[in-house]
Amino acid sequence: MLNIALFGPPGAGKGTQSDLIVEKYNLHYISTGDLLRKEIAEGTKLGHDAKNIIAEGGLVSDEIIVQIIEKTIVENSESNGFLFDGFPRTYVQAYILAGLMIKLHTSLNCLISLELEEEESVTRLLERGKTSGRSDDNELVIRNRLSEYYDKTLPVLQFYKDKGIYVAIDSKNSIEQVHAEVDKVIQGELSKNLLNIVLFGIPGSGRGRQGVALAKKYGLEYISIGTMLEDEIKKKSKIGIKIKEQRENGLLAPDEIIVQLIEQKLENSHGSKGFIFKGFPRTLVQSYILDGLLQQHGSGISEIIEIEIPTLEAMSRLHARSKTKYAKAYDKSTGKIINRMHEHERKTLPVIEKYKALHHVKKVDGVGSIIEVFERLSNEIEIGFRNL
Ligand code: AMP
Repeated sequence: MLNIALFGPPGAGKGTQSDLIVEKYNLHYISTGDLLRKEIAEGTKLGHDAKNIIAEGGLVSDEIIVQIIEKTIVENSESNGFLFDGFPRTYVQAYILAGLMIKLHTSLNCLISLELEEEESVTRLLERGKTSGRSDDNELVIRNRLSEYYDKTLPVLQFYKDKGIYVAIDSKNSIEQVHAEVDKVIQGELSKNLLNIVLFGIPGSGRGRQGVALAKKYGLEYISIGTMLEDEIKKKSKIGIKIKEQRENGLLAPDEIIVQLIEQKLENSHGSKGFIFKGFPRTLVQSYILDGLLQQHGSGISEIIEIEIPTLEAMSRLHARSKTKYAKAYDKSTGKIINRMHEHERKTLPVIEKYKALHHVKKVDGVGSIIEVFERLSNEIEIGFRNL
């Protein structure tokens, strides 16, 4: 989960920035101000209790805030994460937030503070007041809201400074500039807790089928070089034309091409919880490339899993697949299947050996029904998430 709190005085642009982030990263947006206004509009008891305080620009009690926020969090506990706007606003609420996050077995990644001078806040809010329809966007109430902010909310920053998860951004700049900075912080956070799994196994061991299903179950991005190359061949792209022949003969595609394809994938995948690499790295050179690519994104390999099955079983699976609609060009003759097994033995086994020396390579028995193997792999991935 990616949990971010946007902080700053009224008028700093929290709402505007939230709109941009929530869509991009598919987060659940929680604005305590919006939730309170909804309670008021619906005429609930909570709304009734909060109405006068909001009208005067004061802060609503922590009890009310907990009630509205807990419900929303629990109802959306399966989301990609939360973006908090206008919460926490007091020191007590900072502890409340920590407690709520524990309830979901997660924590706040960072607090982004949009900083703006007091007079600039007033100017912006008066301007907004002309169209917002918010009765609290008038000068008297604005001054009150700001004084509540400086008295009660600003001290909350220390809480997050002490935890080392506070980031300040100057909010005087344009919406686009502020967004670019906020985005950079979030990208950094995303890279920190990605679960990146490398799935090894001989051709026919079930990496593809299992990899796709695991990625779907755990919100990971599946990166299969084979599938990406096939897409290029289908599209008859420049890359596709270049690699077609090598591929049909069971040979590996050139590294420059693979690097390009993976780079694109890493750049374009926002909001995923990590990656499952299948069919990469296949050579020692590629293992260095992968380390470099992940490091470039502030991340690294989290887990290496090798699906083990006897070679004869793999050969007979590939032979069987060649008679179905899932047949791959390189399944079609025993010669090609043997070629791929050789390539694995010569080039990929040394990679697994290298990783054995550096990381722990987990071995998972790939013999059994698809569901049995899937459960074994799921257990390993859940351990990986717990260890992040
Ligand atoms: P906002 O939309 O964030 O500017 O909030 C509007 C008003 O709702 C504030 O001036 C407060 O009266 C109230 N409010 C919103 N969030 C909180 C909170 N976390 N704690 C206490 N009062 C809040």
